[in-house]
Amino acid sequence: MTAPTFDLGKLHGGLRLTANKSSSTATPILDMPIPEQLVLPITQHVGDPAHPVVGIGERVLKGQLLAESDSALGAPVHASSSGKVIAIEPWPVSRRNGDTAPCIIIESDGADKPIERAESAPDFTTLEPDVLLTQILHGGIVGLGGAVFPTAQKLMQARTCELSYLILNGVECEPYISCDDMLMRERAAEIISGAEILMHALQLDVCYIVVESDKPEALHTLGDVLAELHDNRIILKQVPSIYPSGGEDQLVQLVTNREVPSGGLPTDAGCLVQNVGTAAAIHDWVIDHEPLISRIITITGDGVASPMNVRARIGTTVADAINFTGGYTERAEQLIIGGLMTGRSVTTDRVPLVKASNCVLVLSETPSPGAEMPCIRCGNCADVCPVQLLPQQLFWYACADDERKLREFGLTDCIECGCCDLVCPSHIPLTFDFRMAKGRIRELADEKARAARARKRFEARNERLDLEQSKRDSELALQKKSVKQAGPAAIAEILKRKRQQDEED
Ligand code: SF4
Ligand code: SF4
Repeated sequence: MTAPTFDLGKLHGGLRLTANKSSSTATPILDMPIPEQLVLPITQHVGDPAHPVVGIGERVLKGQLLAESDSALGAPVHASSSGKVIAIEPWPVSRRNGDTAPCIIIESDGADKPIERAESAPDFTTLEPDVLLTQILHGGIVGLGGAVFPTAQKLMQARTCELSYLILNGVECEPYISCDDMLMRERAAEIISGAEILMHALQLDVCYIVVESDKPEALHTLGDVLAELHDNRIILKQVPSIYPSGGEDQLVQLVTNREVPSGGLPTDAGCLVQNVGTAAAIHDWVIDHEPLISRIITITGDGVASPMNVRARIGTTVADAINFTGGYTERAEQLIIGGLMTGRSVTTDRVPLVKASNCVLVLSETPSPGAEMPCIRCGNCADVCPVQLLPQQLFWYACADDERKLREFGLTDCIECGCCDLVCPSHIPLTFDFRMAKGRIRELADEKARAARARKRFEARNERLDLEQSKRDSELALQKKSVKQAGPAAIAEILKRKRQQDEED
């Protein structure tokens, strides 16, 4: 099949932001040594926690399964290096300030001894797509663009849809983050191999690898590998560097000119989007048998001595990673896991780097947004919103806690990009308010679901009791009938049983 070509679609709104990436891309990716301790949260995906399958004191090998998942949206967790499990306990994680989560803690032995796997990988093109998907499921691979949706499940859902295109997302539009750029520069062949595996699993003939025009080295390297491969099913596309063009829905719009419906998924527009890092992780697992135990992370900001990208084992603490790059500067004040726009502040560098960690940003000062003032209805926020929402209206309904209106005005479509905050002359923390409102809606929905489950249980219990009672009544009627013929001994027996039943009730 010859790939169709499209004029680029138009991204609504968005902002051109200062990239702040040159210092972290000045040197090649450095491999971090294995730290003395690895801290692996059992939840590194969107679903329920995985269940540990190792015990305290047990020795483990690199790549060994540590926790498996039976959740529909779960992913297994593997040992990032060899060593001994010394604890399974709550540990600070980067979800929210002060939050802890159960983690498996390994004291590494420095040997980095891997678990034995099959000598040679079967040619993936000979595998049925479903077999290949099951194989991907066991690699612990989740979306490395930040969403951490388990990859195999996302592919399985996509297989049930009418798909036209696979889109590999190399659009890294958020300031400071440069791990995907460096990955594309240094591991282009593995990304393209991952694309081929994904295309086979999805039985697709067209894949777009999308990169921003301000990443010439990445475009060049990917272009060279593609030219050597002569696989004209894979097409490299350049898009302008506008934040947040790397959002899945925005990318579909830009690349194919198709719109993802409100509340829908890219698969509703015939597209499956995967991050370039996820494609490389699929290559590592399917071809090299290495599950997701490491990733590239940008360590940057004016609060670190030497900004750079490192390849770190999952479970390395932020403190170890920063020490490896040369430590903090004297001015270091704020620690953010993720980028400037969508990252979350943490108060301790004991938190581990997890599958979702793409950046550690250390800043010398906490940006002060200025005092919040009333909305002046200027409309700036609506102009920049990439989802074409009306943030000023949403803000109004969020303050009023009006769930119905918030839903009607599309709060659930908000991608929390933060563009509206940046242009608001009244310094209203719109994104924060939207995040909170979404949380309240989720809580309400959970509460409703819990109440519905309790009501169902109550009704089922009543039904069971009624059924048992009518069974007992009919038995009693039968016995009375027979007693009329049997005499007083039988009557006494019936009375005794009746009393017994009354006591039980
Ligand atoms: S945070 Fe939400 S409302 Fe604000 S610009 Fe982004 S998508 Fe629109
Ligand atoms: S940008 Fe701020 S002040 Fe202007 S309409 Fe939006 S919320 Fe109101």
